[in-house]
Amino acid sequence: MSATYDIAVVGSGFAGSLMAMIARRQGFSVILLEKGAHPRFAIGESSTPLSNLLLEELATRYALPALKALAKWGSWQRTYPEVACGLKRGFTFHHHSLTSPAFADPDHNDQLLVAASPRDEIADTHWYRANFDHLLVQKAQALGVEYIDQVALHTLTEAYAKVTLGGQRDGRKLELHARFVVDATGPRGFLHRALRLGEAEFPNYPVTEALYSHFSGVHRLEDISFARTAEIPPYPVDDAAVHHVFDGGWVWVLQFNNGVTSAGVAATDACATQLRFSEGGPAWDRLLQRIPALQEQFKEGVVERPFNHMPRLSFRSAQIAGRRWALLPSAAGFVDPLLSTGFPLTLLGVSRLATIIADDWETPRFTKRLQDYATHTDTELLATARLISALYANMNNFRVFTALSLLYFAAASYSEAARRLGKSHLASSFLLCTEPTFELNCVDICQRARRPLTTNEADALIGDIQSAIEPFNIAGLGRPERRNWYPVEARDLLEDAGKLGATRKEISAMLLGSGFRQERELPRS
Ligand SMILES: Cc1cc2nc3c(=O)[nH]c(=O)nc-3n(C[C@H](O)[C@H](O)[C@H](O)COP(=O)(O)OP(=O)(O)OC[C@H]3O[C@@H](n4cnc5c(N)ncnc54)[C@H](O)[C@@H]3O)c2cc1C
Repeated sequence: MSATYDIAVVGSGFAGSLMAMIARRQGFSVILLEKGAHPRFAIGESSTPLSNLLLEELATRYALPALKALAKWGSWQRTYPEVACGLKRGFTFHHHSLTSPAFADPDHNDQLLVAASPRDEIADTHWYRANFDHLLVQKAQALGVEYIDQVALHTLTEAYAKVTLGGQRDGRKLELHARFVVDATGPRGFLHRALRLGEAEFPNYPVTEALYSHFSGVHRLEDISFARTAEIPPYPVDDAAVHHVFDGGWVWVLQFNNGVTSAGVAATDACATQLRFSEGGPAWDRLLQRIPALQEQFKEGVVERPFNHMPRLSFRSAQIAGRRWALLPSAAGFVDPLLSTGFPLTLLGVSRLATIIADDWETPRFTKRLQDYATHTDTELLATARLISALYANMNNFRVFTALSLLYFAAASYSEAARRLGKSHLASSFLLCTEPTFELNCVDICQRARRPLTTNEADALIGDIQSAIEPFNIAGLGRPERRNWYPVEARDLLEDAGKLGATRKEISAMLLGSGFRQERELPRS
């Protein structure tokens, strides 16, 4: 086979298919190339308010109505009931001591619940990637994207204003030409190997590993004695990305509506070596034995697929774009699943690349804008790694861990609200990492947090975190009376309208537009 396309997208995860659809919508001829075949397992499942908003924005901007329904739990259930999905009302964190296991503290000192939506209809989701990614490939094909699976690509060469991709399919030679290549093959993917791009370090970042699988028969946390409480939490604790944090690592538990639970552990090398992650299932069992709540929750759990051990979790490419190619953020780097940062980073990158292609295709500015894209992508990955390294350093100090996580929640909620108000210039980068004052504060805070802290130093750090988030805190984060349980309260946003340069009326209109109910969720002003 030999043909020429405007754009070749390599890798048909959700991001590759989305990029291909957008390019097709802009009138380009597009080929999408996949080494495997759908449906297939993929990890990376939990969305966030910002991810869903970005998905919705892209669906609107590029006239992809079929994708809009996937941006909220309610519309997803009505439109695609056959596409498995999990309900995510927020972020649940529980802290555990592996040496002296205990039950949940009634004062919430060992937990953090941050709601992301006031009710199920407009909630976020966990994407069951086998179904989700398959659906997106089908939608891409329906738009006229040419799709070839089971390809083994080996080379990329550049000559005469185009690139040539070389490989094999079905034992036969495959050669394709394109004016531009988007690599959506994930960390250490196609271009990393074909162009020997090399790997860079995240400064001061610990070496981490992961071990994960899919399970059936897992109970809900709220049904076991560990999490029973007389108080009503801001949302059902299992309808969330559930994190169990311990010294050196953390476990995620995501429940889907098809009876499958995704669970795994990410941990420092030292912790992974001690638990012997390389042994797979036995390492998982060893970990559960040290966290009684999880042992009880998983006591009837059945492992549905072989455990996957990732001996190196983080990755940062030494190069992100060339003259006729670019890596999506998900191919350019990965930090850790903590805080579900993979999807929003990737969707921001898809959005930026789509704009560059639309505005400057084959103009003299194209290469410069690609280099800006590369710099922006790398800056966001570095900011993410900086925060997550500080969180790793404090997994045995939950008070500091909780405070540090507010840097993420403040930045994410502020960015979401700014975009919804049509003021994306207020939050043009992930984690507000190009907002000069916030950025400077984050650098200082994360640096201090990586060192062992005395109680006084921890108190000072927590105070500084509260001051750093204050100009962006539109969700009542850090208020002592909330005792680590944060509901979604329209009242908070209305009171802090000025931080977004908006009036209360504008905030009310924005909330109604994003699905809040006038009578129940918006206070009378
Ligand atoms: C353990 C773990 C947990 C995570 N959890 C979360 C989470 O909860 N929330 C979140 O936001 N992010 C999470 N992430 C990150 C998330 O997985 C990624 O952001 C997301 O999968 C990126 O999607 P993608 O479509 O770009 O790439 P992928 O999903 O990696 O898809 C890449 C596709 O490219 C194909 N491919 C690979 N090599 C080639 C090749 N040479 N030629 C052709 N095709 C190729 C693959 O077969 C695959 O279909 C997690 C990551 C890990 C490692």
